[in-house]
Amino acid sequence: MSKFVIETPKIVAVPVSGSDALFPVRRIYCIGRNYAAHSVEMGGDPNRETPFFFQKNPDNLDASGEFPYPAHSTNVHHEIEMAVALKSGGSNIPLDQALEHVYGYAVSLDMTRRDLQDRAKKQGRPWEISKAFERSAPIGLIHPASETGYLSEGRIELKVNGEVRQEGDLNQMIWKVPEMISYLSEYFELAAGDVILSGTPSGVGAVKVGDRMEASVEGISSKVVTVI
Ligand code: MN
Repeated sequence: MSKFVIETPKIVAVPVSGSDALFPVRRIYCIGRNYAAHSVEMGGDPNRETPFFFQKNPDNLDASGEFPYPAHSTNVHHEIEMAVALKSGGSNIPLDQALEHVYGYAVSLDMTRRDLQDRAKKQGRPWEISKAFERSAPIGLIHPASETGYLSEGRIELKVNGEVRQEGDLNQMIWKVPEMISYLSEYFELAAGDVILSGTPSGVGAVKVGDRMEASVEGISSKVVTVI
């Protein structure tokens, strides 16, 4: 076997609940505007339009519990989302087989440089600079679906410094978890290690250094993340 010419990049991994094992990450897909109330607050349509996705970098996931306020933005927003971790994948996955590919669920945050995103939207440019920056996806423990079942309903909530900022129910998702998996697999070849962030309820807003975010999804571990 050939040697690598440089040191191999580190495998990004997320801790699994009730175990000292880790979930290795391959890709991150994020869906936009998947809760009607959030779609409206972002100036969009609350109806079931064709879903759209963007990607973060795998190493943007961060289980440390700290979020460093990023450079070149003065308006960084929290977006609480449920993360769906896949244990297998494929192309053109039928809707009724989609859940068979889910390894588990975690609470996560899709941190966003909103000012840079607004500028990118106006200019018709890509979103990476606003979405796929360092440590932009804080994440909690992954809970195996074999223990939780399919998390199709339950409260999703984000508190900042003890005050509720975002709240909703997983059953308010416009595109459900199996639909997201099936749809994505028509455009990408999904595989073990892929993580899907499933959209945020309304109430997104700015954070500042020192804020304590507490993200929770009913039935799995919550995650406290401090802005540093
Ligand atoms: Mn989001």
